[in-house]
Amino acid sequence: MKISLLHFFLLVFLPSLPVFAAEDTLPILYLRQKVEITGVDSLKGVKVCPLYKNAQWAVTSRWDDSNSDADLKMSQLMDKYGYKATFYLNGLLDATVVKSILARGHAFGGHSCSHPFFAQCSYNRIVEEILKNRIDIEARTDISVNSFAFPYNQYESATRPTLHWDIYRILRRAGYVHTAYNVFLTPEMKNISQCNQLPYEGSPAGPQFNAFLADSALQKKEPNICFNTHAGSYTGSPGLFTQLEADLKQFAGRKDFWYPTLTDYGAYRFQYKLAKIEDLKKSTGNVSFTLVRPAGLDTNSPIPLSLKIDGTVANNFQITVDGKILPPDSKEKESAVFSVPFPSECGPPSKIDAVCVEGKPVFSPKFPFLIASLFLEREPYQFQLRHMKNGPALKNIFVTLRLPFAAEEPVIRTKPTRVLGPNGLLSVSFDPRWTDRSLAMVQGRAMFVAQVDFLCDNKPSRLYVYGYKDIPSSEKATVYPKDHFAWCGPLATDECDATDITSKILQNPDSASYSLPNGKTVVWEKPLSDWMVDSPDIIISRPISFLTAFIRSPAQQKVKIATDAGRGIWLNKTPVTSGQIVTLNPGLNRIILCAAGNVFFKLIASDTGQRITNIEYVLPNAVAKSITVKPSAFSRIFVRDWLLCGPFPNPGDRPVKKGFDIDYLATGGGEAKITPVKNSEVSWNGKKITWQFYHSPEDRVDLFQFPPIKALTNYSDIVAYAACTLISDRDLDLLLGIGSDDGYKLYLNGTLLKTTRAFRGAAPDQEVVKAHLLKGKNHLLLKIDQDFGQYEFYLSLSSPTGKPFAGLTVASD
Ligand SMILES: [Zn+2]
Repeated sequence: MKISLLHFFLLVFLPSLPVFAAEDTLPILYLRQKVEITGVDSLKGVKVCPLYKNAQWAVTSRWDDSNSDADLKMSQLMDKYGYKATFYLNGLLDATVVKSILARGHAFGGHSCSHPFFAQCSYNRIVEEILKNRIDIEARTDISVNSFAFPYNQYESATRPTLHWDIYRILRRAGYVHTAYNVFLTPEMKNISQCNQLPYEGSPAGPQFNAFLADSALQKKEPNICFNTHAGSYTGSPGLFTQLEADLKQFAGRKDFWYPTLTDYGAYRFQYKLAKIEDLKKSTGNVSFTLVRPAGLDTNSPIPLSLKIDGTVANNFQITVDGKILPPDSKEKESAVFSVPFPSECGPPSKIDAVCVEGKPVFSPKFPFLIASLFLEREPYQFQLRHMKNGPALKNIFVTLRLPFAAEEPVIRTKPTRVLGPNGLLSVSFDPRWTDRSLAMVQGRAMFVAQVDFLCDNKPSRLYVYGYKDIPSSEKATVYPKDHFAWCGPLATDECDATDITSKILQNPDSASYSLPNGKTVVWEKPLSDWMVDSPDIIISRPISFLTAFIRSPAQQKVKIATDAGRGIWLNKTPVTSGQIVTLNPGLNRIILCAAGNVFFKLIASDTGQRITNIEYVLPNAVAKSITVKPSAFSRIFVRDWLLCGPFPNPGDRPVKKGFDIDYLATGGGEAKITPVKNSEVSWNGKKITWQFYHSPEDRVDLFQFPPIKALTNYSDIVAYAACTLISDRDLDLLLGIGSDDGYKLYLNGTLLKTTRAFRGAAPDQEVVKAHLLKGKNHLLLKIDQDFGQYEFYLSLSSPTGKPFAGLTVASD
């Protein structure tokens, strides 16, 4: 997102030798079309053109980071000069902007759900960031997505050498065929294309553009030139905007260029690489063959495929595809080019929905006659789709199961089910056959997705059904460094470089505190947990710190150190380096690291490179008597204890349902003014409704588990309130992160801070709002509405500075 961060990671995570698994062989659905041509004498050949209509270059643009105003303005600039834009989303744009952008032929791509550094994420998290982002955009826009842009352009890590290849595999298993980056692909990565980016946000693009045009090897490999990267940087600076406009003007309207979206470019190149011409037959003047190409279900764009026929083109030249006449794009004496569209029933979907299923069946909002279930309690797992009454029968149903990273088969596609009519049931059992249940592979919850593609009223349609499950690990968490290191810092660069602090720590790593020459004192603390970092190989640090742990080894053994702790590594007080083979003593070994930022640390076998699993990391205060490791204060927490009140009715249709704007708390002083206490009551419509204490066992508050809502027979069309009190020992600025299913109103101390009308699934921090707490009690109230499907919310409190904040108490009684 920010250039400085990008450069930082390019410098720190130097690419190292990737370890490649075999080329992936994911299922692809192929389509066969019969092509017959008359009027071609002395046929020399038929080939698939590298670009649509046999253009020489595809010229396009990429814009990241979900900026509604800037993206709209950028799309209008592209329209002016005949270009198309692809907007890479990591949050949703304003609904009217989405509509306007799509209506003018621009496209959307994936940019992850929460814009994390992939190098710091667990595998299950990376899969979710990439796949759920695609599902969310598709369900929101009804347009399928096939191109991905990496957050921070980051996809590799020096200490996770397979990460680059693994991310390629994850992109493929999530259904992507294109990545909006110019140096991602290696020759082994065959089924994805990429784009050649021009200099961005400041430099004139012309010289680089002309250099690309002159590069015939590049044209053969990836004939694409792309303006980029953040629309806001251009729209926020009149000078840059004018510069960009001049560059666009210079290369606009060229006959030998194709100006597609990156979705269309990616889909075209995917077909180009995989299409085949079979059963080629020729007799006097007539040519016939079968064109075999990936179907719209896998291209996710309806871009036609262009073919070039070389031979003498006679007057009676005519092309028919599956019996229908197709006019050529261009015709010369010795050749003709024509573009074969998808048959309408084999194109990509035009209506897309997504439902999250946990435990019980859920109706699809857009296909309300379909009810889906995902049973993940025991293996084999089961996906079920039931057709209720009052809806058209589904035809040509393909179920594509997209499974967690540790599953043996990443993607399973079932044979087509011809018809699912009223009262019909489609059921698919599947066994993930785990290849690796180590903590690194299964850490965190794993996402399971059933993508169902079908014809509904003869239109290609799609329903995603997804759910989560925690897969138990076969390993103990103590095999990994995360949460087992004590942390001392942060230090300024000069403080850290002072030999004084280093020698003090090395001489006496168990001291309760260390004083610096400048009078500052530092102590050992337990590092903060950080939601952005979930790889168990990463120790959470802060710039710049010392870190220490014990490593318990059952015997003397030689191991290799793999770490990016760049400022120093000491094993049993001896300096060592990453990549060095060292000897662990039987029993406890002391490791000390000095690093800037989060640290990757792994001990591997020097011959196989595999993780050493017979060791254990031990937090020093568990064994060293003199060291006190202070528990760190929090910098971000979720409120799990609430006073809840409801349900109240919420009739009517989306987007504005009636209950959302009815103040049901009027008898208690109104939504803005109420300060509820446990077991207090409000009256509405002659009924008394009690504020009840509710503790959520997880960060997500599932309102279906709140007893008065759990007791309902119909979980749809309701609203409820959630209240808590934030008690601060001083005036305090903080951030409130809200995730909601569906919409909400947020009040703090009587002020309406935020209203979000939405129909969506909940995720942490879908909106983040700045808030100011007063010394003493602060009253927070959330009103959450429910259309149908899941009903839940998240509320996080975080410190705007990232520093832990003390003196804040959350009360709910
Ligand atoms: Zn970004």
